[in-house]
Amino acid sequence: MKKKFSILILILTCFTVTIFFSGCKKHDNLDELSANLTNYTLKIDYNHENKSAQISETIDYINNTGDILRTIKFHLYPQYFEEGATELVVSSTKLNDAYPNGMSYGNFEISRVNVNGADCPIEYEGDYDAILNVNLSSSLLPNERIAIVIEFSFTLPNCEHRYGYGENSVNLGNFYPIACVYENGEFNTSPYNANGDPFYSDMANYYVEIELNSALTVAHTGDCLSNTSINSDKTMIISAKMVRDFALVISDKFEIKSLNAGDTKVNYYYFNDENADKSLQAGVDAINTFSSLFGDYPYKTFSIVKTDFVYGGMEYPNLVMISADVENIDDYMNVIIHETAHQWWYGIIGNDEYKYPWLDEALTEYSTLLFYDKNKGYNLTHAQMVDACKANYTLFVSVYTDVLGNLDTSMRAVNEYATEPEYTYCTYVKGVLMYDSLYNLIGEKNFLSALETYYNDNKYTNATPEKLINAFSKGSGSDMNNFFNSWLSGKVIIR
Ligand SMILES: [Zn+2]
Repeated sequence: MKKKFSILILILTCFTVTIFFSGCKKHDNLDELSANLTNYTLKIDYNHENKSAQISETIDYINNTGDILRTIKFHLYPQYFEEGATELVVSSTKLNDAYPNGMSYGNFEISRVNVNGADCPIEYEGDYDAILNVNLSSSLLPNERIAIVIEFSFTLPNCEHRYGYGENSVNLGNFYPIACVYENGEFNTSPYNANGDPFYSDMANYYVEIELNSALTVAHTGDCLSNTSINSDKTMIISAKMVRDFALVISDKFEIKSLNAGDTKVNYYYFNDENADKSLQAGVDAINTFSSLFGDYPYKTFSIVKTDFVYGGMEYPNLVMISADVENIDDYMNVIIHETAHQWWYGIIGNDEYKYPWLDEALTEYSTLLFYDKNKGYNLTHAQMVDACKANYTLFVSVYTDVLGNLDTSMRAVNEYATEPEYTYCTYVKGVLMYDSLYNLIGEKNFLSALETYYNDNKYTNATPEKLINAFSKGSGSDMNNFFNSWLSGKVIIR
């Protein structure tokens, strides 16, 4: 995600744009690589009048855990958007922006769970019933598959967040039951949190059929296989292979512009953007630059979507939400570049974003600085952003130390921050300063080589801090554990 965070004073200097072409490299074959993944099939009947849907979800689940399973657990994130969930879905300071028409709640109901053809009891777990336990009648051995059907419906809240709608658009992020990641002998059932993007999921394949009013335009993860209209209704069939989530944004106001970045078609879905060509170009430049710096973008489609959204933006595989409320053009471009960098750090390489939010977020934010090094036609520079981060961070530390007496500046799990500013400054701003210190310590060549190693060694998997640190140790030729530990634990003093 990208916080709304006006970065800088502008320097009105026009440089030549450097464009990086990813060339004619051999792309990863996602059909082959995705053969042994879980397959989700979603049949969505969407009603725009009521902002509701009936959904049949079939999960062809493969047991890739290495253990014998008797239960499979699923996250039900929409439960946090229901009335009665006492946790807020945004920080209290953002309530008016998220709910411009007053508090609003969703309604999410599961009507049926079926395993291998037999209906079974619907068993919830945890706060707000936000985990679904699907109990199996017999053991599921490693590498075996099982068919699970979950039928459910939702009505969305009038909430300008990842799951909800605003005046112009409907955001469908984290809207369906998604299997929890299994690690260390158990399913990871970390709850939702108002800080950050508290998600964690495995690579999977998606086949999605959506029926809706033909006046609506749908931006989505994956590739559209067909789009057929009959009278006022249309059916879209979408396929996404090797992605860790699936999201949609729906609007009757969207215009679309597209350009190619290498083999990837970049779409820009927007309303009210007089700089639409520039916004699209920023996405193309970002895909080209990051492909060149880190490794190929392996997907055929990438969509940048302007939408009603309380924060600056939000990342999903092949789709990024960019807030219509970001008015300054340089900030808007910066959000596009930041969210596009997440395609590598979060999308292709995943991580537990609840426990280690800094792992993808700080690297994503620093990747935007690397972007400006390679694209001089933008009004922001690497050096300006570092200076701004340093000034903002030292101000934050001094103000918060005065207020709290003793400030914990460790980079920690989303639920361990008392306030959203603490999360933002420790994760994004301090994250940039950490990576810039490392960049200066080991030099650009070693730094980029470490990121290439990190990408190649971990793509399509879930990474851990150890894997990132190992890549930097390899890239620099020195053990980087002490460096990272001192920054992460809050021992480094920044002046
Ligand atoms: Zn982000």
